[in-house]
Amino acid sequence: MALKIDHVNYIYDADTEMAHTALEDINIEIPNGQFIGLIGHTGSGKSTLVTHLNGLVKPTSGRVLYDDQDINDKNYDRKKLRSKVGLVFQYPEHQLFETDVFADVCFGPKNLGLSKDEVEKRAYEALRMVGLSDDFYKQSPFDLSGGQKRRVAIAGVLAMEPEILVLDEPTAGLDPKGKNEILDLLKKLHEQRGITVVLVSHSMEDVANYVDRIIVMDHGKVQFDGQPREVFAHYKELEKMGLAAPQVTYIMKDLKEKGFNVDDTVTTLEEATDDIMKEFS
Ligand code: ADP
Ligand code: MG
Repeated sequence: MALKIDHVNYIYDADTEMAHTALEDINIEIPNGQFIGLIGHTGSGKSTLVTHLNGLVKPTSGRVLYDDQDINDKNYDRKKLRSKVGLVFQYPEHQLFETDVFADVCFGPKNLGLSKDEVEKRAYEALRMVGLSDDFYKQSPFDLSGGQKRRVAIAGVLAMEPEILVLDEPTAGLDPKGKNEILDLLKKLHEQRGITVVLVSHSMEDVANYVDRIIVMDHGKVQFDGQPREVFAHYKELEKMGLAAPQVTYIMKDLKEKGFNVDDTVTTLEEATDDIMKEFS
């Protein structure tokens, strides 16, 4: 087991009249190897929660444990933790600043105090993983497309060789093609590298096809935590939270209501196709 969030509460501006509870009694275990979707309406607490995962923000009460050690203990090595738990912020391209792509990706590992050779090796590897070829290395990051910039930012975090990759709305603002490229990249990293991925999104549709676990947040609390089909079974409650099950789940429910013997708990197009073919074969 890698990360554990144990009875975490977080209050913005605690002890002032502006005090605002953003997280309430959060309990989550993130074992190695999972691909998790963290879903919730805007303001539900997703971003606040993910900044707790690498010690950037300290809980008002409760603990965050990494391999059973409290990451907020006075003597805990949080710098090392930040290489293991890589956090990609929302709109990470706003944090690109070096003169060329390669230098930008080198920035993180350089800060870990690694040798120049090792830093460059990691940067090459990370850029290769995100699918950016040599042609890009000497380009200014600012000349790239939105999706390419975002891949550079992700490469910068991958070059730290994290065990857990946490991405806050990594597809926000991208067109459908750029969006799918990022999601496919995450899938590949998870499958081929075994990296644990925590994907923050407010779109059920996006995550349903990729994740093996969904955590739903609402008003600072975890409302559901389980496999996609378990979570989407609560579609009526999800709708009340401003979320919805994937479209394909609704189609299957309609078919079932019309008397077809189909499984209305499927959550991906692929599963639905298989199931419908069975019914009609
Ligand atoms: P999400 O990422 O799901 O949109 P956030 O974690 O950003 O949610 O916000 C959770 C709650 O905390 C919201 O009510 C939001 O208004 C509030 N909040 C977020 N950032 C701050 C801040 N810096 N100061 C005060 N309140 C904040
Ligand atoms: Mg957010």
